[in-house]
Order: sequence, then C-alpha cells, then structure tokens
Amino acid sequence: MSLHEAMLYEKTKENKVKCCLCARNCFISEGGTGFCFVRKNEGGKLFSLVYAKAISAGVDPLAKKPLSHFNPGALVMSIATVGCNFRCQFCDNWMISQGKEIKGRNFPPEEVVKATRDNGCQGISYTYTEPTIFFEYAYDTARLARQVGFFNTFVTNGYMTPEAVKTIAPYLDAATVDFKGGADPEFYKSFSSVPSVIPIFEALKEMKRNNIHIEITNLVVPKTGDSIEKVKQLATWIRDALGKDTPFHLLRYHPDYQQTTTTATPIETLEKTYVAAKDAGLSYVYIGNVPGHPCENTYCPNCNEQVIKRYSFEITKWNLTKDMRCPVCGQEIPIKGRLYASGHSYPYALF
Ligand code: SF4
Ligand code: SF4
Repeated sequence: MSLHEAMLYEKTKENKVKCCLCARNCFISEGGTGFCFVRKNEGGKLFSLVYAKAISAGVDPLAKKPLSHFNPGALVMSIATVGCNFRCQFCDNWMISQGKEIKGRNFPPEEVVKATRDNGCQGISYTYTEPTIFFEYAYDTARLARQVGFFNTFVTNGYMTPEAVKTIAPYLDAATVDFKGGADPEFYKSFSSVPSVIPIFEALKEMKRNNIHIEITNLVVPKTGDSIEKVKQLATWIRDALGKDTPFHLLRYHPDYQQTTTTATPIETLEKTYVAAKDAGLSYVYIGNVPGHPCENTYCPNCNEQVIKRYSFEITKWNLTKDMRCPVCGQEIPIKGRLYASGHSYPYALF
C-alpha cells in the first residue's frame, strides 16, 4: 500500500495525530485510521492511503454535478477515490464510499490532466465520494490543472474545516455543496451519522469569502427529510449568508443502499419545496433528477422569461444575450464563465 504524507494535520501527545481536514477532527493513534478509513497514522505521521488511487474516472457534463450557473455546457473529467467521512444510509455510491478496502487504479495528477485534455473536457470535478478525504490528490491535481487552464470543481458534503477550504481555494473554482433532509440536524444524526451540521455552514461561509462559485443541493427524502419548513429555513440562510442569486437545487431521492424500503420523492413534494425556496427569496431554484420538469429551466427573476431551457443535463435552448442578460428586460443573469458547445451531454466512464 503506497503512502503519501497528509496535509493539514497536527501531532499531539504519544505519537497521536489530529486530522484537520474535515470537521470530525479525528484523533488517530499510531497504526490507526480516521473515520473515513483512508488516512492512517504511521509512526506519528498522518498519511493518505488513496493518493493517486482513483476508483472511478469518467467524462461528465458539468450540469450533472449539478452546476447550472458555471461554464454551462462544459464537460469535466470526474475522479474519485474510495472512502467518505459520512455514512449516509441512502448513498447511491455506497460501493465506493463505504467499503474499508483501499483499492483503485494508479492515476497520478499529470495523467488526470492529460486525460482531461484527451477527452475534450474543460475542467476536472472531484466527486462521487467525498473529495475532502482525498484532499492531497485533489489538491495536486487541481494545481496542475489550473496551470494549463482547466477549472476545478468539488462536489462535497461540505463537512470541511475552514482551513481545508482556505488551502484548496486558490485552485478551486466552484463547489456543489450537498445538503440532505433540509439540513435537519436530527436527520443528519440518524441517517448520515453526522453529529452536527454547523460545520457545513461555516465551510460555506469560508467558500464565499474565498470567492468560490457555490451551488447548493438539498436531497428531499420522503417522510424523514421532506419538511417544507426546513427547506424554507435553509433557503433563508442561503439568501442571507450567500446571496439570493445562489442556485439552489432540490433533488429527487431514489431508494438505495440501506434505505430500499422507502420510495422516490413524490413530484408534488418537490414542487412544494420549490415554492418554499422561492418564497424565501431565492432567485434561482431548480428541481433535479426529474428530466423534463419545467423547474429544470432558468427563468428571469425580473420578468419570468425562460432564458435557459434544459432537458436533464442538456441545454436545449439558450435565450440569453452575449453579455448574459435576459433578452426581454435586460436583467443580468449571473452565469460565471462562458457557454460551451461540447457536442454531447451523456456521461461515459473511463474506468
Ligand atoms: S478526513 Fe478522515 S481522518 Fe480526517 S478528520 Fe475527516 S474523517 Fe477523520
Ligand atoms: S456524503 Fe455522499 S458519498 Fe458520502 S456517504 Fe453520503 S451520499 Fe455517500
């Protein structure tokens, strides 16, 4: 097993280390691993066990992350390693996020960057599992990628320390931060084994301070995590702390992993949460995982003109002026980057 010395840890007494990457802040004794299983104390030093060891790599439309207001139409090289710092009972990537076995293919940063270029992508996404736990791999790759003009995005549960956010910020262009169950602390404790949601809000504020483009998702889980009131509270926090133009995606849940007895979120419930988020004052609210739903589209917050029409990950109609304004009333629509015509919108796996 190859070892790569970790970033962001402190030595404590008796050869113990404290990991400062995520809000769990594991204290790890010699020979032990952290909660995520992929960081190990060897001789009083902390090592990443998954550096350059990708379990999955593939080309995705950026819209799949989802990122709707950042380089629309772009393609990204998506990479992941095994491991996660959450234990979501409904994880749809549980086979790679929850196993304790360290496995994956050697895929060093320079090869990731080469594959990004060879596959016609414009950026790299660190995704599928939790990029915080493969931080060193993501950091080195992102730095190299930036040098040659690619952008970098995280799809994250947001449980990062502010220190981790500040460290990756110079190379991180955008982040999709995934909430579940309306950010209800009881939901997080029961279904994801996460003791507190406060660190997620702190990480988001740090991302905002560091000028990282942020889009938020919330997984609407039937019965246990579909409170309209909680969604409204979350949307209100987003409006006040991050700004009313922050895109907010309400995602349909499908049963998976240990939660196979539940059902998919009724469309009607998603629509109610959509109304609640709009009522809270957010300008750009979306319903996700429901291809063809009218709430996949972008509407001008001033005159309600449909300015971007989508079907799933595909942009089917672009109705903005060259300087990203509504063609009817001239309202500026906040889109970072530029429009790409990548030619296809369907993901494909490299391995
Ligand atoms: S990244 Fe892993 S080892 Fe570090 S604090 Fe989080 S769970 Fe613990
Ligand atoms: S945070 Fe994401 S990858 Fe990790 S267990 Fe939860 S759903 Fe799975």
